Amino acid sequence: MRFKKYDIYNVNDNLFGGDFKVYNFEETENKNIYYLKSKVINCSCPHCGMVSNSLHATCTRTIQFVPIHLKPTYINVNFYKFNCLNEECPVKVFRQDIKYCGPKQKFTYELKCLIFAVSLFLSDETTSKVLKLIGINVSNDTVRRLYQNIEIKDELDVEEIGLDDVSIRKGMKYATVIYDMKDHHMLALLDGRDGKTLKEWLQNHKKIKKIARDRATSYANAINEVLPETIQIADRFHLFQNLVDRFKEIFKQEIPENIYILDGKILDERPNNIIVKATVEQQILQQLEYDDTPPVDENGYIIKFNNKSSEPNDKHHLIQAENRKKK
Ligand SMILES: [Zn+2]
Repeated sequence: MRFKKYDIYNVNDNLFGGDFKVYNFEETENKNIYYLKSKVINCSCPHCGMVSNSLHATCTRTIQFVPIHLKPTYINVNFYKFNCLNEECPVKVFRQDIKYCGPKQKFTYELKCLIFAVSLFLSDETTSKVLKLIGINVSNDTVRRLYQNIEIKDELDVEEIGLDDVSIRKGMKYATVIYDMKDHHMLALLDGRDGKTLKEWLQNHKKIKKIARDRATSYANAINEVLPETIQIADRFHLFQNLVDRFKEIFKQEIPENIYILDGKILDERPNNIIVKATVEQQILQQLEYDDTPPVDENGYIIKFNNKSSEPNDKHHLIQAENRKKK
């Protein structure tokens, strides 16, 4: 197999996907721009699936990419729109798929993930500042908008849900998150974890038959009040946690702090003589014939390295006191 001179490692394909090729690169003092051009000659309609080679238009978009060398990096993408050739298809014109970016998005999926990850722990404004340091241009308004655009799809007829408490931003604010147990998509993100908002939510979801929940009694109370017929399920993690907590209590009550064993038998009472084996450190010190008596000066006085503390019965002090009296 023969490779083209500069394409040995498929860097282009790995970074931008096989449908595009880099035809130009620009580096200025404050940004990098990669110019990409579509390589496809046809594309299948996302609605009917029919392959079309009828070109409708060529479009250009600039999308922010993950930073390279900590410098804001953009890709200028030249892509195609095709006419659907299926006369019965309601879609007349469709855009070729850009794998790393959704329609009308200013950031690639990877970059969005990065922004979300940082913003989980910081305020919108600090997120913007921190990201700027590593070469991502995003304003605090955009960070907030990204959050607001997270789609939470509620389902009024849902029958099985899971709920748990989560902390939003640095553990300062708590929320209750509700999932559809079938496909695990988020149904709601409610303020607080005291069960108040959950009660209101449950009022509008009376078809629920099963709820998997954590150990919080506030959730249990809310469910018992609004949907007493519902089966409540504790997951294995929480059951195991309950079990371990209970065992710890029992061990503390039932088992004495020290257990004395002589000749392989447990003694009922504390024996008079207890052999304490020297620790490894002590054994090493003994081998070294380590002298741990305090150092003394030529007059036999203990040299104190810590001059902040003084010993009132020290020979030195007594002599000084004696001298003061003489004066
Ligand atoms: Zn179509």
